[in-house]
Amino acid sequence: MPENALTKARAPIEPVSTLATAIAGRYTISKTFTFAAAHHLPGLPDGHKCGRNHGHTWRVRVAINAEELTGPGWVTDFGDLAPLARFIEQHLDHQDLNAVLPVSPTSENLAAFVAAWCQQHLEPTVHGRLESVTVSEGDDLSVEFRPRAVRG
Ligand SMILES: [Zn+2]
Repeated sequence: MPENALTKARAPIEPVSTLATAIAGRYTISKTFTFAAAHHLPGLPDGHKCGRNHGHTWRVRVAINAEELTGPGWVTDFGDLAPLARFIEQHLDHQDLNAVLPVSPTSENLAAFVAAWCQQHLEPTVHGRLESVTVSEGDDLSVEFRPRAVRG
C-alpha cells in the first residue's frame, strides 16, 4: 500500500520512555532575586550621572547547570537557593553598595561578587555547577558573568 497521510497517521508512535532517555545534554535552571540599593561610581569625569549617588532596583539572576539530574529529576531544589536569598536580603538590599563591595560597584563587579559568594557558599551545598550570574540595573541593560571552570 502506498504511503499517504492516512497510513502515516496510523504509524505506531515511539514510546515516551524511549524518547526520554535518547538524548544527552545539560540542564540549566535559574532564579532571579530583586533588591533595591544605592551606588555611585568613583573616578568618572565631572558631571557623569553615574558619579552621583543614585539607586536601582537590581535584579540578580543565578543560573546553575547539571548534566545529570538528582532527586525526583531536577538540577537542584530551588529551595536550596535560600541561603543566597538571605545573603542578598541581609547584605545588599537597601544598602549602599559602595560600602559593601570591596571594588567599584558596577554591575560587572556586582555579578562577579555574587558569583564568588555562590562558589564559596552555595555551590558546595547544591547539586549542579554555577553557570552564570546576570545583573540588571534596568529593564534594558544587563551584565552576565561566567566563572571559569575549575579543573580538579
Ligand atoms: Zn547606577
